[in-house]
Amino acid sequence: MAEYQAPIADMKFVIENLIGSGCSDVISDYVDVTPELVDAVLTEAGKLATEVLSPLNRSGDVEGCRLEGDVVHTSDGWRAAYATFVEAGWMSVSGEPEFGGQGLSKLVASSVSEMWNSANLAFALCPMLTQGATDAIRLHADKDLKDLYLPKMVAGQWSGTMNLTEPQAGSDLSGVRTKAVPEGRHYRITGQKVYVTYGEHDLTENIIHLVLAKTPGAPEGTRGISLFVVPKYLVNEDGSLGERNDLRCVSIEHKLGIHASPTAVISYGDDGGAIGYLIGEENLGLSYMFTMMNVARHAVGLEGLALTERAYQLALNFARERVQGEPLGTSGGKGATIIEHADVRRMLLLMKSHAEAMRALAYVCADIYDTAEKSLDPEVVQCASRRGDFLTPIVKGWCTETGIQMASLGIQVHGGMGFIEETGAAQYLRDARITTIYEGTTGIQAADLVSRKTLRDGGVAALDLLEEIESVAGFLSVEDPRLKEIGANLAQAVVDIRVVLEWMVKVQTEDLRLPAAASVHYLHLWGVTCGGWLMAKAAQLCCDKLIAGEGDSVFCETKIATAHFYANQVMPQTSTLARIIVRGSGSVLDLDTTNF
Ligand SMILES: Cc1cc2nc3c(=O)[nH]c(=O)nc-3n(C[C@H](O)[C@H](O)[C@H](O)COP(=O)(O)OP(=O)(O)OC[C@H]3O[C@@H](n4cnc5c(N)ncnc54)[C@H](O)[C@@H]3O)c2cc1C
Repeated sequence: MAEYQAPIADMKFVIENLIGSGCSDVISDYVDVTPELVDAVLTEAGKLATEVLSPLNRSGDVEGCRLEGDVVHTSDGWRAAYATFVEAGWMSVSGEPEFGGQGLSKLVASSVSEMWNSANLAFALCPMLTQGATDAIRLHADKDLKDLYLPKMVAGQWSGTMNLTEPQAGSDLSGVRTKAVPEGRHYRITGQKVYVTYGEHDLTENIIHLVLAKTPGAPEGTRGISLFVVPKYLVNEDGSLGERNDLRCVSIEHKLGIHASPTAVISYGDDGGAIGYLIGEENLGLSYMFTMMNVARHAVGLEGLALTERAYQLALNFARERVQGEPLGTSGGKGATIIEHADVRRMLLLMKSHAEAMRALAYVCADIYDTAEKSLDPEVVQCASRRGDFLTPIVKGWCTETGIQMASLGIQVHGGMGFIEETGAAQYLRDARITTIYEGTTGIQAADLVSRKTLRDGGVAALDLLEEIESVAGFLSVEDPRLKEIGANLAQAVVDIRVVLEWMVKVQTEDLRLPAAASVHYLHLWGVTCGGWLMAKAAQLCCDKLIAGEGDSVFCETKIATAHFYANQVMPQTSTLARIIVRGSGSVLDLDTTNF
């Protein structure tokens, strides 16, 4: 099986040409987005992804993790790979310089994360969770906690986890039952958390759990949840490791995919209570989690993109080698590689064009987060925050749902060999399947997009983005017939979204269940359109470059052909989705619950 090769040319194209849309000319705001730096970072990350992480992807899937006593052993090669990863400084890419991080933008960090996810999703989850935990401490904890924990987490010496879920509290965290009782300067934590990714493992000397729990007398529901740092080993004031804390991994899950990523059930306080330290103030735990939710959800959206890219590379290699039949319209009887068959080309182009559309959208969104965080202009910050909030559920929901479809297509390209585990294609589908579930299911993303991100502000953020998309549709060259067609499809998508927005604003006053019934279709409508918007922009840029005789002409011709395919084969979905939403949402609600 060929190892993963990072698609550096497309990554650089997006970073150098497509970001900066919306709120400001952000490219100039960040010193790190120089072509030289991007080039160096992507090249080195690409090497590590190909040479170190990718070769362990299949063996990790086959071997999985092993629980002995309360110790989880990761699969063969994992510890050495993690040590190499940390020594090369990749854990600290986007960490704050104050705590030893390199402080690179989310844009550059996202392209690097895409590589880790493509090469080995089960491995990539460890740095991803650590990054999430680090962000929560950095943004909300007091100075003492930051100074004690962040330098070692940023360096990768200690890893981090997120402990939200309990058996009775999944999408709805109001049911959290884990308790935190104050005791001097710390709290005693008791309860059970499930599905904790990298909740126990042998890669780092300490594991820092971020745990949601309720203090005595806390308000009911989500307004009474607090957030705690609960280390596996207590940490002395000088940063050295102390006693083992009162928490243990009681089991690890047997899963459909990401076998090499340990998913732990953790019991807190069997011997009187694990020691935990409050982050920020009591009862604000969930709001703290929400401030870092965008980044975490975006990170999972990147997983959908990354698995599409990986599945595409594998399918393409196979299609270039497998000889079977003669394409319609040819003769000679020698047989042809299956890439010659029109239907295989269709499948490969669906995978390729979706990977490129998702990459453009995910990177544009990452850049908007950077703008919201770093711009000094309050108006720009407000605009970028609104745009980032709006795009986040689309990146998470659309990229992950699409990732599953594309990994499935990858199997189809292989025929029977795709269904056989040795090929590797099946693993990408199994691994992709979790991405629409954790960090908020697609249903939760869609509900967020409809209610908080669209209806709550009267559609301001949605209309704002739509105007920008419309301007791109109007700007596309009418001289080139392919660009003209791309523009027509994009303009139609804008019309479709407007129809849906009008419908939503109207029906929400009659029956709020109607927008809810339409929510996942609405999310897809935006996903397909945003992908089309950025592919259209890319096609126009490439057309301009070709006319000016600049850049790589093969890359540009390929981009225009791919964008044209996306416009003709993917964009027409917008009209169908709009029709389903406006005419069909009522039928979701017709059947009485007892009659199912
Ligand atoms: C491999 C794996 C790793 C995980 N890692 C972590 C981790 O590291 N930390 C952690 O805390 N958790 C983790 N989770 C838990 C994960 O985040 C939850 O499984 C997820 O939030 C869904 O919760 P649930 O499983 O209870 O499903 P439920 O909430 O019971 O949902 C079931 C179905 O109902 C739908 N639904 C529920 N509520 C609504 C609503 N309001 N509107 C529309 N539809 C709704 C959902 O979309 C879904 O289709 C992990 C899970 C797995 C499987």
